[in-house]
Amino acid sequence: MSPSSTTPQATVHGSPRQGPDRELKKAVEGYWAGRVTADGLHATAAGLRRDTWRRLADAGVTEVPTGDFSLYDHVLDTTVAVGAIPARHRAAVDADPLDGYFAMARGTQDVAPLEMTKWFDTNYHYLVPELGPDTVFAANPAKPVGELREALALGHRARPVLVGPLTYLLLAKPAPGVDPGFQPLTLLDRLLPVYAELLAGLRAAGADWVQLDEPALVQDRTPAELNAAARAYRDLGALTGRPRILVATYFDRAGAALPVLAKAPVEGLGLDFTGPAAGNLDDLAAVGGLPGKRLVAGVVDGRNIWINDLEKSLATLATLLGLAGQVDVAPSCSLLHVPLDATRERDLDPQIARWLAFARQKTAEITTLARGLREGTPAIGAELAANRADLASRAASALTHDPAVRARAAATTAEDARRPQAYPDRARAQQARLKLPLLPTTTIGSFPQTTELRAARAGLRAGRLDPAGYRERMAAEVREVIAYQEKAGLDVLVHGEPERNDMVQYFAEQLTGYLATRHGWVQSYGTRYVRPPVLAGDVSRPRPMTVDWFRYAQDLTDRPVKGMLTGPVTMLAWSFVRDDQPLAETARQVALALRDEVTDLEAAGAAVVQVDEPALRETLPLRAAGRPGYLAWATEAFRLTTSGVRADTQVHTHMCYAEFGEIMTAIEELDADVISLEAARSHMRVAHELAAAGYPREVGPGVYDIHSPRVPSTGEAVALLREGLAAIPAERLWVNPDCGLKTRGWAETRASLDHLVEAARLVRAEL
Ligand code: GLN
Ligand code: ZN
Repeated sequence: MSPSSTTPQATVHGSPRQGPDRELKKAVEGYWAGRVTADGLHATAAGLRRDTWRRLADAGVTEVPTGDFSLYDHVLDTTVAVGAIPARHRAAVDADPLDGYFAMARGTQDVAPLEMTKWFDTNYHYLVPELGPDTVFAANPAKPVGELREALALGHRARPVLVGPLTYLLLAKPAPGVDPGFQPLTLLDRLLPVYAELLAGLRAAGADWVQLDEPALVQDRTPAELNAAARAYRDLGALTGRPRILVATYFDRAGAALPVLAKAPVEGLGLDFTGPAAGNLDDLAAVGGLPGKRLVAGVVDGRNIWINDLEKSLATLATLLGLAGQVDVAPSCSLLHVPLDATRERDLDPQIARWLAFARQKTAEITTLARGLREGTPAIGAELAANRADLASRAASALTHDPAVRARAAATTAEDARRPQAYPDRARAQQARLKLPLLPTTTIGSFPQTTELRAARAGLRAGRLDPAGYRERMAAEVREVIAYQEKAGLDVLVHGEPERNDMVQYFAEQLTGYLATRHGWVQSYGTRYVRPPVLAGDVSRPRPMTVDWFRYAQDLTDRPVKGMLTGPVTMLAWSFVRDDQPLAETARQVALALRDEVTDLEAAGAAVVQVDEPALRETLPLRAAGRPGYLAWATEAFRLTTSGVRADTQVHTHMCYAEFGEIMTAIEELDADVISLEAARSHMRVAHELAAAGYPREVGPGVYDIHSPRVPSTGEAVALLREGLAAIPAERLWVNPDCGLKTRGWAETRASLDHLVEAARLVRAEL
């Protein structure tokens, strides 16, 4: 075959890890519970990798990625590969690498885990590397080399994937105890030799190409950071006996990093050409293309689930063919962010299912596109015709156009999105109504989602439990949760959210315009997977969604129970959203539906309504230029949801993170009366940041890290509260966990909340 007929090829940056039926989750959790041996876990993992590679190869992907698989998180895997084990985990890792690995991920009773945060603007969480001036790196090629060998032994051509050195350092934080001003990027010179060793190890094991993922380069970077990138790839490029290097960027345009990478002595570049990254096309032309180099062209959206417009992609690819030595066709980023296979969604209307492309369908799209480029478009005529028909069916569907919804959204004014009373007046009215003590205690909403609760839900789905039996099971749980909170002495109660499978899905199932999938799991963190709903059409609320459960819970107690909703931004962020209209439009539709729910809760007696917006920051555009526009519609949607209530109804919001920086002003713009957020692992840093920014309202920085089974002592919670009081005056400080308790067990929840309430009592006595 002539070279011209073997390229372009199709390739992917990475694949979903979990297996068709979340076999990985079962194996890892089984290992934690002692039901699965280490060998059993490794065998399951190897089987999943083998199946993934086979499926890619069968679909026509000629070079499969390796090393993208992970038992927990690929950034943690990189920490292991470069030997950056935090001092507090060293002994555990030395004693048993697998248990030490999970200890870094989840903590143990004695040792805190690494901090966890979102991977760029996705809903995937990675474990944050902790580095300091004393960090010593050491190459540990066992996993990358081992997985490469596996793929080669199975007869695949394989391309190991590693998080690149810039991204690794830019995602890292100063280790606890290190000067918070420490810049991990200053460790680059120490880290590069370790990457050199990893590259050499991979080359020796048979790697022709190695992919270094550098998504951090699509964010606004300083000249010093860009210089560091230039230096890193100049040094790695200058190595002898190395594999060819593909530097992959994704999630946005490469911008100022593009000329740096184009000039670097590496053989390939991966660029995203979807969504906000489409500008890479002009930028690439402007730098004169990549003559003689390999371009992995991300033309199929790797983060959303809609079918690709194949003809549009072919046109993009045709332009790109003239801009690089070799062009390969790929999804925009790893397929980690989409579910596995849309053909398993047999419950969906086939007229709608045909609009969907999950990992397998996207793989077929890229192999079709590559074939079209190799053999000419007539060779893919049937695929193009089917694609055209599918796209037309979506554009013409009634689901995507509800006149009533459109009219109401169009009639919305800025006034509708403002509470009429100033905050101080509201605060007075709320205090008069709620009469809470100083340092009021509360939780974020969910209580443990026990196996029994999940079994009840499964029973309902399978028809083993009738709806009345299911409701009674949930009601019993609400009674238990309320009784526990009264006994524990919490001040503002919750009903515990037992009826909610997931904070977005629960609402999506009740709103018009959303579709649910059955097997559409994507990894959120570790063994936690979510099934994001598909926001496919115009959104409305046929009937109240949470009012009955609220009323049931409030009738059981004299203490205030919070009405509990998921906010409009999060309803979008944790769904697959339609790509056929601006997000602002979709957000407004969702906000109006939720606004009706808020006023219904108020009418049912709720004195406190919490609207969770944990996703506000993660959908922040990666580049600053897109942020003001996003924050304007996002905060307006929140206010539209919450501003229809009386002055003495207290609006809470909640966010699951501590990195506030760029959205500080937006937090203020939400105009919520109380905000709770994650702060335990970061020692209340966010409380200080809010104080420094002059945040005027009430704050509940978490004092209990719910991401780990570890029970914080009363003393720890007291110390955190004192730290919080150094930033926020007692009149405005709340006491709560970092987030909901649904992933925790009852024993640790009880112990932790008892300590939390006790800590609040002790600190109140000091005031
Ligand atoms: N109310 C939700 C819960 O407690 C909030 C979850 C979240 O912020 N992720 O589960
Ligand atoms: Zn949270």
